[in-house]
Amino acid sequence: MQDLLTSLENLYIGGRWIRSSGQNPPHQVLNPADGSVLATVCVATTDDVDNAVRSARAAFDGGQWSELPIRERGQKLARIAEIVLEHREELARIESLDAGKTLREARLDVDDAVSAFRYFANAADLDSGRMVDAGDPKIISRIGYVPVGVCALIAAWNYPLQTISWKLAPALAAGNTVVIKPSEVTPLSTMKLVELMEQAELPAGTVNLLLGPGSRVGAAMTSHPEVDLISFTGGLEAGSKVMAAASADIKKVALELGGKNPNIIFDDTDFETVVDNALSGAFVHSGQVCSAGSRLIVHEGIYDRFVAELARRAELIRLGNGFDPSAECGPLATAEHREAVEGHIERAIAEGARLVAGGHRPPEPELADGYFLRPTVFADCERTMGIVREEVFGPVVTVERFSTEQEAVFLANDTEYGLAGAVWTNDASRAQRVAQSLRHGTVWINDYHPYLPQAEWGGFGKSGFGRENGIQGLNEYRETRHIYQNIQPAPARWFQAEGA
Ligand code: NAP
Repeated sequence: MQDLLTSLENLYIGGRWIRSSGQNPPHQVLNPADGSVLATVCVATTDDVDNAVRSARAAFDGGQWSELPIRERGQKLARIAEIVLEHREELARIESLDAGKTLREARLDVDDAVSAFRYFANAADLDSGRMVDAGDPKIISRIGYVPVGVCALIAAWNYPLQTISWKLAPALAAGNTVVIKPSEVTPLSTMKLVELMEQAELPAGTVNLLLGPGSRVGAAMTSHPEVDLISFTGGLEAGSKVMAAASADIKKVALELGGKNPNIIFDDTDFETVVDNALSGAFVHSGQVCSAGSRLIVHEGIYDRFVAELARRAELIRLGNGFDPSAECGPLATAEHREAVEGHIERAIAEGARLVAGGHRPPEPELADGYFLRPTVFADCERTMGIVREEVFGPVVTVERFSTEQEAVFLANDTEYGLAGAVWTNDASRAQRVAQSLRHGTVWINDYHPYLPQAEWGGFGKSGFGRENGIQGLNEYRETRHIYQNIQPAPARWFQAEGA
């Protein structure tokens, strides 16, 4: 990355770092741990969006990437994985500063990015098409894949590097060219990634980077007629706008949206293990995780004891800036976002939820300039409460009570979302029964949060559609083509009249 404090050449179009073509005031990227300015970056204009998309179009049509044998594209992706790994610490530090997450977590995010590039580097071996038996020896029928074209990849601010890598790796493996846009809130690791990717020498125009607010730059990308596919990670409101914009040109769309994820706890599990995992399920990255286990559904047999221990442990969580080795959770992403989360907390109290931990900003003076909020636990929650139904996207967990397995399943599915969920029990049959009843894209049994590059990720309901990771994650970026060849062509004799 150039020195961001001195250069405004932050857009990457056609293989060159350039300034914005207009007079938009530059954007200040803030450190959420203390509100200081981390970098000043330029903001793209609609002309820049047009140039980036046209650059991707020309690169796609030129065929230097899209027609490269898939194994050679895979070698480039493997090289990108190596380069990212070589810069693990630098990328982790950027991510920690920008997104406010602890260095420990940021390092894992870099590892996730590496895993995505490695996995999709082997795209040729994942699914390279198949022959189909047409039931007729003179017919050769083959299913194959071609890239979709120009892809607009738009990421959320919570996992910037990981999210963009989950999109870039399969999009590039499939042979597409891309225009990417990180959130204005956390663009720095994506800028660094693009800079590092230059070392892999992809053809100019294959990867283009835009910066700027979603309402203008993102909207211009999604309505651009030369974009063939949009992959979007973000919230419901913007997701619905993206889908509307895509409809005008019938662009392909994949939406990775929010969640309100149930974490069901039966009374036969190891108490210490389940409290500990409930804490990390809800509060990792201060709960700013689409799949956060923010809705605990706990058996009545352990409910009171569980709530008391969860609240006690939540009060012990140490907040701090990501570089502080003793910090376990960082700040929220922005001052506005913290205010929005505080609004959820106020409404929950007004609705009658019982606040048993947190609910306020930390008192330590050294945290006063950052956007910190104490991990918050609400007990005695009901399924009808807003705090149970709405995605808070912050350090807030609700606890509901259940008595029967059927009731637990009902509550867990009683949501308009469907991204992820979990069940904790020592009864293997019950674990399978419950898991198979949950209408969520990922279900963990006796665990929370792990995902695998080889396993599909995505949501049911208003959590979106389309999948990332796994073979389906690759197929989002490919058109399926059936080639049917008749090796002994003859007149069809459908119409009887033979001409002169
Ligand atoms: P957001 O406000 O919806 O923004 C997401 C991205 O879209 C940002 O880059 C944003 O740009 C851009 N954007 C905003 N309005 C747009 C529009 N009209 N057209 C095109 N792009 C637009 O979401 P967020 O606050 O960044 O992220 C939080 C949400 O993401 C949560 O709901 C979370 O659950 C979800 N999420 C889901 C997953 C998943 O895997 N399902 C993963 C991570 C996050 P700017 O920010 O620059 O304005």
